[in-house]
Amino acid sequence: MITVSEHLERILDSTGELESEVLALAEARGRCLAEPVVAAVAVPPWTNSAMDGYAVRFEDVAEADDVSPVTLEVVADIAAGSGANPDLGPGQSARIMTGAPVPTAADTVIPLELTDRGSGAVEVRSPLTRGRHIRHAGEDRQPGELVAATGSGLTPESLAAIASAGQAEVTVYRRPKVVVISTGDELVAPGAELSRGQIPDSNSLLVSFLAADAGATVTADHAGDASGELAKTIERVRGEADVIVMTGGVSVGAHDPVKALFEGGNEVRFNRVSMQPGKPQAFGRLGVEGPLVFGLPGNPVSAWASFQIFVRPSLRKMQGFTALTPEAVPARASEDWNTPQGRMQVIPVRIHDGDERHVMPAAEGGSGSHLIASLADADGYALVDADVERVRAGDQVRTVRLRDPEQFNHQQRSTP
Ligand code: AMP
Ligand code: MG
Repeated sequence: MITVSEHLERILDSTGELESEVLALAEARGRCLAEPVVAAVAVPPWTNSAMDGYAVRFEDVAEADDVSPVTLEVVADIAAGSGANPDLGPGQSARIMTGAPVPTAADTVIPLELTDRGSGAVEVRSPLTRGRHIRHAGEDRQPGELVAATGSGLTPESLAAIASAGQAEVTVYRRPKVVVISTGDELVAPGAELSRGQIPDSNSLLVSFLAADAGATVTADHAGDASGELAKTIERVRGEADVIVMTGGVSVGAHDPVKALFEGGNEVRFNRVSMQPGKPQAFGRLGVEGPLVFGLPGNPVSAWASFQIFVRPSLRKMQGFTALTPEAVPARASEDWNTPQGRMQVIPVRIHDGDERHVMPAAEGGSGSHLIASLADADGYALVDADVERVRAGDQVRTVRLRDPEQFNHQQRSTP
């Protein structure tokens, strides 16, 4: 038996980064930067007004108050988008809108609310302080400063930042091409009438969508247990795949096709990993340059847990992400459940975030690698250390929420 971290380390050692490509910002959501993005222009590009009001020279209004307002001449009207830079002499001002460039001669903006809103002349009732309501060019980023780092994922927020910094394209890693192959003679399409012994294929959907969520482009295939069938399917898809993920057929059953095909060869290794569920694992590479191969156990909850712990980090490494595994958040168990001693448990849970995070197993009574219908109740998983035998209400466990891609962005701020 090997540990979860030993198996993961082996997988990551065999995982390389894919090539990069240049994409328009609108195409790049979810991708990972292969090159840093620096500001091509200052952010903001112009010193501009934070309010609708009047751009003034502070010394002209320094003495203004409610009792003795100061009257200034209004010599210009500057809208957002205007390129005007009117000269302001003593006693002069310009009406200005939010976002419009502040005239070089002004140093303060007086909001409309502190004036009589005049157009030829304006009465100012308070000077505020010098420099108020002005946003300075480059105060967020100077040209050349870092906006988004290599290895970070592109979110709506970072793409907006990159656009603001004057860039139209980004260099990102390409998506991994994943082929999912479910194995088993018992599997039929969802909704098909079930003869005795048959079950709906749920892993195909499960693993395909998990891989797509992790950034891959995915196709799904199926192979029966008969000798030669899996080999044929793999031959057909291997040229098209960066990764082949098979489910089922990796353990010691009489008709386990993954085992039958690869056992004894030197491309794919079979390991018992100290994890529950997900003990039997197969991993390797076809040929020197061929696709990575994952053989996940067939029970849907096992396949799911194996994907979270082993496949997702590998797919993230291919895409160049700096953060490969999500940050686990400590949570308190709200009920007792059993966990096998000597194996790290990856149990589907319901998470409740209040003042403190609480978790309970998604399936009443704890774990069961075949409890696929209960998996629908999971919004995360808990990681229970191998030396624990029973989790008791109030105990602390580590948890990860599903589908929160931004949780992977736990590197530092990009602020220079
Ligand atoms: P195996 O690893 O092939 O022995 O499969 C273990 C268990 O998982 C068996 O009960 C299978 O019927 C079930 N199983 C395997 N593949 C799938 C699948 N694609 N969808 C649903 N259940 C599966
Ligand atoms: Mg099987």
